[in-house]
Amino acid sequence: MEQNQLIIVAVIIIALIIIKGFIDNNRKPKNSTFKCARCKTREKYTSRTIEAWKRGFNKIYCQNCHRAWLNNNPKQNYNESNNGGCLSVLIVGILPIVIYAGGKIVS
Ligand SMILES: [Zn+2]
Repeated sequence: MEQNQLIIVAVIIIALIIIKGFIDNNRKPKNSTFKCARCKTREKYTSRTIEAWKRGFNKIYCQNCHRAWLNNNPKQNYNESNNGGCLSVLIVGILPIVIYAGGKIVS
């Protein structure tokens, strides 16, 4: 019985993480432009800067400064793909295993 409750709690937590990720993905900055943290230029948000904004970075760089930063930090493998999406896929992939493993423990 307790194992079943644990599984339910686990499922709820995973569902909440997925829902939160979904909400975060649809979040957008209030303004359509931002001020570059380095050169103070006003620039329109791009998918990259929106992603940075969603991650809570308070220093967002314009395209030129971002490129300069990448040139100065070649080892930093900045991934522009949506990691939140990957995480959701990972959780959805793990969920059946958790349920299966939980069922094994109960029986
Ligand atoms: Zn800049």
